[in-house]
Amino acid sequence: MNEQKLNLTLKIWRQASPDTAGQFKEYKISVSPDTSFLEMLDELNNELEKNNQEPVAFESDCREGICGTCGLVINGEPHGPLPKIATCQLHMRHFKNGDTIWVEPFRAKAFPVLKDLIVDRSALDKIITAGGYVSANTGSAPDANAIPISKDTASEAFDAAACIGCGACVAACKNASAMLFVSAKVSHLALLPQGHPERYRRVEAMVKVMDELGFGSCSNTYACEAECPKGISVRNIARLNREFIKAEAASTSVEA
Ligand code: SF4
Repeated sequence: MNEQKLNLTLKIWRQASPDTAGQFKEYKISVSPDTSFLEMLDELNNELEKNNQEPVAFESDCREGICGTCGLVINGEPHGPLPKIATCQLHMRHFKNGDTIWVEPFRAKAFPVLKDLIVDRSALDKIITAGGYVSANTGSAPDANAIPISKDTASEAFDAAACIGCGACVAACKNASAMLFVSAKVSHLALLPQGHPERYRRVEAMVKVMDELGFGSCSNTYACEAECPKGISVRNIARLNREFIKAEAASTSVEA
């Protein structure tokens, strides 16, 4: 265990409410390199509370890279400088003594800032509500392996299902596009037989809600894939586009 403390300067976005202007405020902190990034913010908040100052509002739940709530932009990168981890998995040992660290919320028109580092990401929930599910009859659980699925297909579907809905892809994109998120959700259901009956209705509904909520278009910079903590591949965006074109063609032929 490394006992040498890191002396850091934090520049943290403070914003009292959605309707007030925000600004960066500077804080000094001394922490163990073994501290996680969120524990470092906990320590800062303990100090602020001791001094009768308003603690920094930020979100977290599982703190093990599963729930997707903890996302912050750290030194300009969603979830910070390391690839394929969420903010809660980042540790202070990856910073140097004397560093200045800029911490701000995910920025996107569809993610309004609620307070300090907390944004409203319910837009992603609305996209899921539009179609990110399969309809299934209730009853006893079906036998395992009743529907054979090849290993390759199962693996691809599982990789897409690893999306934790954190929204880092949106924050990383210059257009604030949600295409990587939507493509992961569409892909993991479209790849499996259980998702086929609703596949065309699903992709049309999810893309429609995505557009209505103010997310931008994909312009193939791949910033989303680079910042995604789960390594969701942009191949899924290509699949989303194919699914959408097939759905449009199917509805056009029904109307004709
Ligand atoms: S695709 Fe990646 S970055 Fe986007 S919401 Fe899912 S896990 Fe987060």
